[in-house]
Amino acid sequence: MPRAEVRIDLDAIRHNVRHLALLGDDAAVMAVVKADGYGHGAVDVARTALDAGARWLGVCTLEEAAELRTAGITAPVLSWLHLPEEDFSGAVATGIDLGVASRRDLAAVAAGARAAGRPARIHLKIDTGLSRNGCPPHAWGDLLEAVAGHAGAGEVDPVAVWTHFAHADAPAHPTIDVQTDRFDHAHAAATTRLGRPLLAHLANSAATLTRPDLHRDLVRPGIAVYGLDPVGGGVHLRPAMSLRARVALVKSVAAGEGVSYGHIWTTPTDRDLALVPVGYADGVPRLLGSTGRFTVGIAGRRRPVVGRVCMDQVVVDLGPTGTGHGVVEGDEVVLFGDGADGGPTATEWADLLGTIHYEVVTGVGCRPRLRRTTVG
Ligand SMILES: *Cc1c(COP(=O)(O)O)cnc(C)c1O
Repeated sequence: MPRAEVRIDLDAIRHNVRHLALLGDDAAVMAVVKADGYGHGAVDVARTALDAGARWLGVCTLEEAAELRTAGITAPVLSWLHLPEEDFSGAVATGIDLGVASRRDLAAVAAGARAAGRPARIHLKIDTGLSRNGCPPHAWGDLLEAVAGHAGAGEVDPVAVWTHFAHADAPAHPTIDVQTDRFDHAHAAATTRLGRPLLAHLANSAATLTRPDLHRDLVRPGIAVYGLDPVGGGVHLRPAMSLRARVALVKSVAAGEGVSYGHIWTTPTDRDLALVPVGYADGVPRLLGSTGRFTVGIAGRRRPVVGRVCMDQVVVDLGPTGTGHGVVEGDEVVLFGDGADGGPTATEWADLLGTIHYEVVTGVGCRPRLRRTTVG
C-alpha cells in the first residue's frame, strides 16, 4: 500500500445500484457521477453502475460528459449545468442529452445541433421551488413555444421534463408535494404543447429511497450509489470509499510535552505516539483535530488523533508507554471506511464537522496527492 490511498470498493457500488434498481421498480436508474463520481472516479463508477443495472448516467458539466464518452461509454448521459458561451456541438455530436432551463440555453443548444448536423436531445428543467437552476413557472409557456419552434426545425428532440427538490431528505416536508404539483402542471403543459410523450424525472437518492410515488420514469440517485444514506433511515447501502494510510513512525514522548502545532494537546503521561502521513492537503479537515473526538482505526481498534491536523500529517495516541499497544511502523490506518467493523465512517466525520457526508467524500476523493485504487 502507498503512503495513503482512497480505496473504492466497486462491489459496494454494484450492490447499491442493484438495490436502487429494485427499489425503483419500473423506473430506470440514472447513476449520478458528477464531481468525478463524488470523488470515487467517474469512469469506474459509471461502468460498474451500468453493469449493475443503471441505464443512464448524470453529470453536471460537458467536460464530465466528454470524459465518459472518451472512455468508450455509450449509455445515455444527461449533462445539466452550462454557461452562456458553451459550445454544444461536440456534446450533440456524441449524443449527450442536455438540460435546458431557458431560451438562452435553448438557442445555444440549437446552434450546437446545427453545427453537429443532428438534433439535440433535451430535458426541459422546470424550477418548482428550489430556485436554483431551472425555468421559473412564469417563463415556462414562453420556453415551450421556443422549443416547439426548434423542434419543428429539426434542431431539438425534447425527451423529458425534470426538476429537483429542496427538501427530499425530509420525506414528509410539505414543499415536496408543492413542488410535485408544480412539476405535474409543467409536464402536462409540455406534453400538450409539444404533442408528444415526455419522460418525467425528479427523484434524487433521498426521494428514491423514501418516496416511491415520485419515481416516475427515471430516478437520479447520486449519494446512495456510493453507499451513503441521505435520510438516516438505516437503509441497506454499503459505503464504497475508504481513506487509508500507513503508520510512518512510532515513538515515545515524555509526560508533559505538547503535541503538534499550537500544543493543543499535552501528553498526560509518558506516551507512545504514531505518526500518520495524511493531513489537510489530503482532504482531512483541520477542524477535525479541534473536535477532540477524531479517531482512526489501527489493527481493528480505534485510537484518538491528538493535537492539530497539519498539512501532511496527524499524530495518534497509542496510550501510556509500555502498555503493549501492538502498533508498528507500516501498519494500516483506516481514517474512514464502511464502518462494518465498528471503525470510523465518512458520516461520523460529517457529524463532527457539522456538514454532510457528500462534502467529506468529494473533499477526499478529489485530491490529486492521494492515490485512488479500486477493489471488487
Ligand atoms: C447531484 C444531483 C442529483 C443526485 O443527488 P443525490 O442527493 O446525491 O442523490 C440528482 N439530481 C440533480 C439535479 C443533482 O444535481
